[in-house]
Formats: sequence, structure tokens, C-alpha cells
Amino acid sequence: MAEINVMETIPEKMIIPLKQHKGDICEPLVSKGEVVKVGQKIGECPSDKCAAIHSSVCGEVVSVEESSHPSGNRINSVVIQPIEETECEDFTPFKDSGKEQLISAIKEAGIVENYGTPTHLVLNPPDCDIDTVLINATASEWVGHNYETPLEYASQMLDSLRLLMKAAGASRGVIVLRNDDKDSIDAFDGLDYEGKTIMVSPLIGKRRVDYYFNDQNTDIIVVSQDKIYGKNIFEYFTYNVTGRKVPFRCTPASAGVAICGVKSTKAIHDLVNTGMPYIETVVTVSGQVNNPQHLLVKIGTTFRDVIEACGGYSGEPAKLISNGVITGVAQYEEEVPVTKMTTSIIVQGKDEVLKDISKECIHCARCVDVCPVDLIPNRIAALANQGRFDECKQMHVENCIECGRCSSVCPSKIHIMQLLQYSKEAIAKAYEDMFEKESSNLKLGCACGSE
Ligand code: SF4
Ligand code: SF4
Repeated sequence: MAEINVMETIPEKMIIPLKQHKGDICEPLVSKGEVVKVGQKIGECPSDKCAAIHSSVCGEVVSVEESSHPSGNRINSVVIQPIEETECEDFTPFKDSGKEQLISAIKEAGIVENYGTPTHLVLNPPDCDIDTVLINATASEWVGHNYETPLEYASQMLDSLRLLMKAAGASRGVIVLRNDDKDSIDAFDGLDYEGKTIMVSPLIGKRRVDYYFNDQNTDIIVVSQDKIYGKNIFEYFTYNVTGRKVPFRCTPASAGVAICGVKSTKAIHDLVNTGMPYIETVVTVSGQVNNPQHLLVKIGTTFRDVIEACGGYSGEPAKLISNGVITGVAQYEEEVPVTKMTTSIIVQGKDEVLKDISKECIHCARCVDVCPVDLIPNRIAALANQGRFDECKQMHVENCIECGRCSSVCPSKIHIMQLLQYSKEAIAKAYEDMFEKESSNLKLGCACGSE
């Protein structure tokens, strides 16, 4: 396992977007010329669908203007010129807080899941009651290095799960590890916690968490399963762990489940114990850089500064991608900031980019073999390419979890996942005004309007 390094150099410029989450953009609380401290709130939530924004450095506000954002859009951002001092806001810990106070503190601290939903909305969704909280630790082997020992990691995760359960008002909590993450499994297995011995139980066959809650007669359990890759894993993840089905176009909250990542869980632990808001994150830098690594960086640091901290480019860069080769977003420039949703930066060389030219499908069925939700990706992609979205729906395209495995194994380099995403978006759009269309003979047809 690789270790996490801390980016020590102070960048010349920080770009802190006022939107780093799904939902409404924050309103700026600072203006040009003001000096801000570490942790100072600089963006206020105009609604509940939002997470506050804080300065990650001490410095002078140079401007509040639209700047490049890793999503590809231009977003109103606070641009700060850092100074060497590290004067911090006075943080107040939130120990012994009740549910309402915790939810409000999580929102004010700006804690957001990797996939963009503000964590306070995951734990306290409108119109839904949560009874089970899941911490998805299947993708986070590196997080162990945020702690002195694996034991410290395991104990803190269990304490944090209690906090999440309290914030959500949930009666049950589950930590989900990855089957091959031996270090984490060893850290949890046999640990004494609240007078009971933790046993890591593999999710096998039809045994879901209900079985282990009953078997172990406890309200907190630790299970393990294979890693699930993808952007839209939540329905599949919820079903795999709890056996509950999430209806089409609904969130796991509709099944009484809240899913948090390890980063947000740690951020909540830090908030409760120190009062620290969400101002730094771990980014995995890989590809054509001299020193690929996991780096703890301050939110708002530009990709260019992160790459420089990794020793610069090792060859001629051709493509810069954030958040994964398959499911991520290619960047137009280096001067885009790391946000709360940034998990990785990948630099591709010319040769790698050229490999992406698509050819005809050779019907090898490799995409069918690797699909974790048993779709027929080549067939659905062909239908999507022809705009035959109603047939895509009949072939259950909405079950695609956007893991990208089909695209990555395709010898013809067909952009299968992107075609399925395109089809899902067209179907979702057609269903937006479903009731109106149902009464007028619903037809999905092609996005261009022809049938
Ligand atoms: S169709 Fe492709 S992207 Fe979708 S779940 Fe199957 S393998 Fe993953
Ligand atoms: S992997 Fe590619 S070439 Fe093979 S069947 Fe699927 S789409 Fe066709």
C-alpha cells in the first residue's frame, strides 16, 4: 500500500469554487482585498441543497470571478493569494451534540460525498427515514495511512459510524470493506468494541446484513465484499449489502439507507473532535508524472501545482483527466482547482490517447462477460447509437452502474459506457414529464425528436 504525502509547498494562487457539490451555488461572503484565515467561511448556503465553502489558506482575496472548474464549466470562485502565515479560525468541537446540531454542523462544515451530494442530505434526506448507515470502505485502502496504526483506523471508523448513526437517527450501522483489502480486514477482525468482538463477515450468496445483525445480536457490523467500480453504484451497492431494492431514479434513502464514503466519514470525525471544516482532501496522482503518489492537498490548489509537487510531467502530456480514465472528465487546462469531489488526477501521454480511436464491434462479447449487472452492453450501445432508447430501456439500461469495465475491455475501443450514459439521460428526460406523456401515448424515440 502506498503512503499519503502532504503537499508542503504553498501555491501562488488558490481557486476556491463556490460550488463543489450537487445543488445550489454558494453566495460569496468575501470580496477583493479582504484577508482570510484558514477555515474561514467564504461561501454561504442559500438553501438546504448546498454545503458551505471555506478558505483552505491564509491570504488575500484577489478576486471573486468565474473560473475554470474540473466539471468543464466556469463557476464563480474566490481567488486567493496565499501568505506564509497559518492563522486559523477558532474552531469549536461538536462533542455531545444531538442529531439536529450534528446535521447543521455537517452542513456548515461543507462536508460533501465524493459523488457530490452534501453529506447532511445523505444522512437527513427530506421525506425519508434512514434506519441503516453504510460506510463504503471498499475503495479506500490508502486511508489507513491517515492514521498511526491500522488499529487506530479501525477504532476511529467505528466511532465515526456511531456519529453517522446519531446524525441520521439510524438504528443500524455497517462498515463495508473490500474482500482483498487484507490490512483493513485484519485491523477490524477481533477488535473489542463497546464490549463486543468485531467479526468481519463476508457477504456470500444471499446472506445480507440482516443475517449478520441477527446472528451477532448487535447494531454495528463489519462486512466485506468485492469492490464495485462505477459512478452510479448506489442502487447496486444497497441491494448487494442490504437486499433492499432502490426504485428507478430514486436514491438509497428511499430504501431507508444512507451511504457515506471514508473521506466524508473522517471529515465528520475531525469536525466533531476539533471543529475543523472540510478544507483538504487526498488526491491520487498517476500517469506521466515523475513521482506518482497519494497527496493530501488543500482544496483550491490548481492541478498544475499538484503536478509540480509530484515532480512535474515525465514526458509530453497529451491529456489531463480528473476522477478516473473511464468515468472521469478530461480537462482543457492545468489551471483548474482541486475540489471536494476530486479523487484523482491522471496524465496521459500521446500514445495512450491515440489508442482511443473506435472501430467496428467484432462481437467478441468481452463486454458481456465483464458486466457486473448482467447487461448486454454491445447490443444496448448499438441501440443507443441509433437513438432507439425505448429498446435500451427494455434491455434495462438503467441498471448500468457506469463502472466502465465494458469500455476498458473492448478491443474495438468503442465508447460503450458513454453510449449507455447517453441513453439513460435521454430516457430520464423523457420520464421527467411522464404523466403528461403517458396520457398522450408515451414514446421515447430518438433525442432529436423523430420516432
Ligand atoms: S454496461 Fe458497462 S458500464 Fe454499465 S455496468 Fe455493465 S460493464 Fe459497467
Ligand atoms: S467488447 Fe467491444 S467489440 Fe467486443 S462485443 Fe463488446 S462492443 Fe463489441
